[in-house]
Order: sequence, then structure tokens, then C-alpha cells
Amino acid sequence: MKPASFAYHRATDIEHTLDLLAQLAPEGGRILAGGQSLVPLMALRLAQPAHLIDINRVSFGTMRVEEEFLCVPASARHADLGAAPGALGQVLARVARHIAHLPIRSRGTFCGSLAHADPSAEWPLVFATLGGEAVARSAGGERRVGADGFVLDIMTTALAESEVLTEVRLAMPTPAVRMGFYEVSRRAGDYAMAMAFVTVALDRGAVIEARVGVGAAERRPRRIAAAEAVLLGATWCDGVIERAADAAASAIDPMEDLQVSAAFRRDLVRSSVRRALRSAVA
Ligand code: FAD
Repeated sequence: MKPASFAYHRATDIEHTLDLLAQLAPEGGRILAGGQSLVPLMALRLAQPAHLIDINRVSFGTMRVEEEFLCVPASARHADLGAAPGALGQVLARVARHIAHLPIRSRGTFCGSLAHADPSAEWPLVFATLGGEAVARSAGGERRVGADGFVLDIMTTALAESEVLTEVRLAMPTPAVRMGFYEVSRRAGDYAMAMAFVTVALDRGAVIEARVGVGAAERRPRRIAAAEAVLLGATWCDGVIERAADAAASAIDPMEDLQVSAAFRRDLVRSSVRRALRSAVA
């Protein structure tokens, strides 16, 4: 199948992008970033934008640390996230290796993945777990949306059709915080069937900070308060890891599809959380 016809517009800078969006979004105009989700959808005619606004020549700045945030511009590709400093860069490089294959990781963008909001995508899980804010701009100005209010549902975000996501400011954990990630997928490069991203801080063996994020399980990724409550204040041991994994598995309302039943997905969440926690504090 071929895409339906559309008009192509190459934005030269952010102001030009905002002008094009103001003019064309009401007529079915859409941002084109890496094109790794939008173009396949267009080829299948599941998306038929009348106008594509290509932002690949727009300068959104470089990835950088500002205060306690890792600022990821709209131009950052999946593969770039591994260049984040320290332990965060190491874990983001591991996460990125689970996104499709090298050509897609070299082209698709971090912000595009968040804007697309596939429930099985890795970056929305990382954003939901670490926290931070998304910077959205339109001709009307700039606003910031917190991580917990950004993805609203399957492929639905808080972005308005006339807004471009210019940057995501990921909250950076302090050096004492350890991070872990685990994903189950059928084959390397496939979308996740379940995954967990966790952060843990210990003080003399006791958990003083814990975040447990689960993705590819429900309609949007989220932190699981019940699992975090099990960990907080507990002494770090296999038993507490098991109880946190059980709490996460019980707390979710699993999606079901032809390949993964709800019961199986619940089980995959349990093992993803267990393994992510173990990998955080090896
Ligand atoms: P595009 O495809 O250009 O755009 C996607 C959507 O987001 C469009 O609606 C577009 O208008 C909007 N958009 C993009 N950027 C912005 C912005 N800055 N502001 C506002 N709106 C914006 N992803 C995973 O997470 N995990 C996987 O395992 C995975 N496997 C894949 C396997 C294959 C074979 C393919 C083709 C893709 C896969 N993807 C996977 C998707 C890939 O990660 C995409 O790159 C990503 O989902 C979208 O980013 P993009 O830059 O390509 O956005």
C-alpha cells in the first residue's frame, strides 16, 4: 500500500515550525520527526495527514544537563541517549538497545516516541518513572507538562495538535540512586510484552527511596505505588524483592492481545520487576 497524498513542508527553525503548525494543524498537519512510527502508519493508511511538517532541519539545541535535569531536545535520536552522563547514560544505553534495530535507533527520536505514546515504547516508561517535564510550544507560547500527566492513554498525550514538543527535561537521580531495567520481548528488537524500570537508594541496607515503573502492561506506563510501598523502609533482600514484584503484578490491569493473555502478562510484569530490581542492586 502507498501513503495517501500529502503536502510536505520543511521547517527551518522553531518559529517557522510554530507558524506552520498554527496554519496547518487545523487542516490535518502533523510533525514529522524520525518518521519511524508515522511513516509506517501512513504506508498502511492508518494515518493520513494532509500536511507533514518536517522538523529534521530545525535546531533544538543539544542534549545537556541543566540543574537536576537531563534536557533532551526534539532532535535527539534514540541512540543518543546513551551519551547522558554517568550511571544514567549507562542505563539509558541499555534501554535504547531494546528499541527496534540500529537504523531505527539512529533515526527515531526520544521526543517522537513520547509524542507517539505507544504503550509498549521504552522512553515513555523511563519518563514516567524518573519524572520531569515536557516542554511544549505553540504560536500561543510555551507550557510545561509534568511526567505523570503527559501520556493520557494509548497513543494519546497532553499535547495539543498545534504544539511541538521541543524538549523533555528528565529528572536525574542523585549519584546514590541505582537504576535497573528489564524487558521481555519475543525476539530482539520486537516491542516489549512487559518491562520494568526501577530506581532504588539504600542506606545501611534499608531502602530509603524506590520507584517502580511498569510499561507494556497497561494502556500507559506508570509507577506502581503498591510495589514502592513494599520496598520503602524495608531491608534489601530477596524476600522483599519478591514481595514488591508480587505487589506490582497484583496492582496492574493487564492489556490482553492475541499473543499475550492477561494472566501471562501479569506474570511477565512480576518477573520484569523482580529482574529489574535485582539488576539495580547487583
Ligand atoms: P515520528 O514517526 O516522526 O512521529 C510519531 C508521532 O509523533 C507523529 O504523530 C508525529 O506527529 C509526533 N511527533 C514526533 N515528534 C514530535 C514532536 N517533537 N512534537 C510533537 N509531535 C511529535 N519504538 C519503541 O519504543 N520500541 C520498539 O521496540 C520499537 N520497535 C520498532 C520497530 C520497527 C520495525 C519500527 C518501524 C519502529 C519501532 N519503534 C519502536 C518506533 C520508533 O521508536 C519510533 O522512532 C518512535 O516511536 C517515534 O519517533 P519518531 O521520531 O520516529 O517519530
